Amino acid sequence: MVKAVSHRVKRPGRKDGDRNIEIPVAEDLATVPGSPQKPVDVAFYSREYPLESQAVEKAADREWAWMQYTDEVAEYRKGHEERMEPMIQASLVSGEQEPTGTPVPGEDLTEDIRRLAREMGFGEVGFTKYDRHYTFASKKRWAKYEYAICLALEQDYYQTQTLPSLEAEYAHFGTYEIQQDMCLKLAEYIRSRGYHSQVHGANDNSAAYIPMFVAAGLGQLGANGQLLSPHFGSRARLMIVTTDAPVTYDEPEDYGIQKFCQECQVCVNRCPGRALVRDKVWWRGAEKNKLIYERCRPVMVEYEGCAICMKVCPIQRYGMKPVMEHYVETGKVLGKGTENLEGFTLRDKGHFGPGELPSFNRDFFDFPHGRTEDWLFEKFKEKLSSNGVPDEPELVAFATDVKKVLDKGESTRDE
Ligand code: SF4
Ligand code: SF4
Repeated sequence: MVKAVSHRVKRPGRKDGDRNIEIPVAEDLATVPGSPQKPVDVAFYSREYPLESQAVEKAADREWAWMQYTDEVAEYRKGHEERMEPMIQASLVSGEQEPTGTPVPGEDLTEDIRRLAREMGFGEVGFTKYDRHYTFASKKRWAKYEYAICLALEQDYYQTQTLPSLEAEYAHFGTYEIQQDMCLKLAEYIRSRGYHSQVHGANDNSAAYIPMFVAAGLGQLGANGQLLSPHFGSRARLMIVTTDAPVTYDEPEDYGIQKFCQECQVCVNRCPGRALVRDKVWWRGAEKNKLIYERCRPVMVEYEGCAICMKVCPIQRYGMKPVMEHYVETGKVLGKGTENLEGFTLRDKGHFGPGELPSFNRDFFDFPHGRTEDWLFEKFKEKLSSNGVPDEPELVAFATDVKKVLDKGESTRDE
């Protein structure tokens, strides 16, 4: 049954020079541009319970993950961290670097920056406020400038379809490695035009970036917790550069994703960890399908980053325009229920077609939670309950471990 169209979203083509596209949004999918939000709640939570980065808040499981990786994954990840060194170094100093050129009074750099970023190869480029409601507590003093340039670089299509695999991890981390040079050049260009610019690292994000990408009109939040952008869905890596250069903000769009995900639910049905939820909830002032971290993390660590929720998403696979056109023409979700879209293989468990999921022991989901020091205290409490008060050398060893963690944490938190 053909559906009535509420509106059509016009977007630039996938690559620089490609023709613009139009995405039809069916009447029954139309909601609001961007994300449904309660601004008062967003402000309250950010003030009273500021977000913190995974590197700090979940340090215990990050350390644990390194012990779980296969040798191949660990070696590749180590190499990746070394290859990202230019970005890490730039994150430390770029905010303080002085402009090399002279600004022209009254100018607006939006289109010059957008053109350059597109020429470099970014698939999506947008401008918005650097929204401090989403800045991580440990980065609040670090982040300097008011305007955010949101940059998404598409990752390889074919490698991504092999998820979960080391091959797909090459696409994932390799895209960050390509993107860092592009971001550094863009920041340099802004300085050459007479303004400051700060690059925000990918390994050590300064904030939750997706709300800013949504505000800049580059997509909407999917039920898989990822940005669904028009051409490649969530098959992209996101970085931002902030600046004090005069720019004009882009507007958020209603692509129909808020309701489409409720119709689709493919990622929810296919998640091997049962970490994705069907219904939306209000979370920190935004309405979303909230991922259950504790169900996702062990699967990610065990199976090369997992990301089956990315692989099975029709927007990632076919692009938003064909998916939305198909929905308007048929009322159906393109590819849903097919082996082609929904099938996946887990290394030691075999292949799973539509309707089939692996099972895991309860122990599989047992992993360290919180900050490393919290986890040490948790283990210590368990010991006290089962074995009583330990002897002095063990107490000293515990205190020494905690002190080491605290020293390390304090030296990295506000970099
Ligand atoms: S990464 Fe894997 S386990 Fe985590 S939400 Fe996606 S599909 Fe589920
Ligand atoms: S798979 Fe379907 S429900 Fe999940 S994010 Fe993609 S479009 Fe939304």
